[in-house]
Amino acid sequence: MKKLFAGNWKMYKIYSEAVEAVKKLMSLTSPLPKDREVLILPPYPYLKSISDLISKKDGYFLGAQNFYPEEEGAYTGEVSPKMLLDVGCSYSIVGHSERRKYFNESDEFINKKVKFGLQKGLKIILCIGEDLTERKKGEVFKVLERQISKGLNEVKDSKIEEKLCIAYEPVWAIGTGEVATPIQIEEAHKIIRELLSDLFGEKGTKIRILYGGSVNPENIKDILPVPNVNGVLVGGASLKPENFSKIILS
Ligand code: PEP
Repeated sequence: MKKLFAGNWKMYKIYSEAVEAVKKLMSLTSPLPKDREVLILPPYPYLKSISDLISKKDGYFLGAQNFYPEEEGAYTGEVSPKMLLDVGCSYSIVGHSERRKYFNESDEFINKKVKFGLQKGLKIILCIGEDLTERKKGEVFKVLERQISKGLNEVKDSKIEEKLCIAYEPVWAIGTGEVATPIQIEEAHKIIRELLSDLFGEKGTKIRILYGGSVNPENIKDILPVPNVNGVLVGGASLKPENFSKIILS
């Protein structure tokens, strides 16, 4: 199983900065070690240009941060999987905690996106994770179980192990500089692995589980060796190619 290093740029960078950052990242990391893949998740307006930069390079992939689960139509401001695939995306994030929080995305809506995106041919990174109150109340298992069972309700695909990734992102660790400890990560990833095996059997053992939350060039060495960590979803530290490249090559 190749480790996936995904960089979520959120709503940062203007066009020229985005193109420069990708060129720099490629010069620092190419050719990639054979056991690693890189996924860049920039804002929508830069997708096509970045696709043109990376499409012929082995191991580099492009993804979106979100999409709307309809083929096309009168949905002002929204972007469909068909459009994303057409400009070179192979992945999309679904259910990031910022979308759950600021855009009130429910587990049911997230499930609709997972099913629709997979059906249209996108690979999906489903983000899950507890907030600080839930962790303090000892509800980590309950939250992960709910987000997985609802988010993946009736999700079927003969190649699910290639098309689905889960990102465990404890909300209290996102953008806060407070990274989960290797023990906390190991516990959560073990729970997720068991839930995936219950849902998908043998294939569930092969679905990649990423950790996300304040990953940086210093803490990556403690995170990557944790059992069931099959890659990382990086926000802030992916914005600087010097930092992201150190994480990728760690
Ligand atoms: C994220 O946006 O998914 C994320 C993990 O952000 P950060 O690395 O900045 O915590």
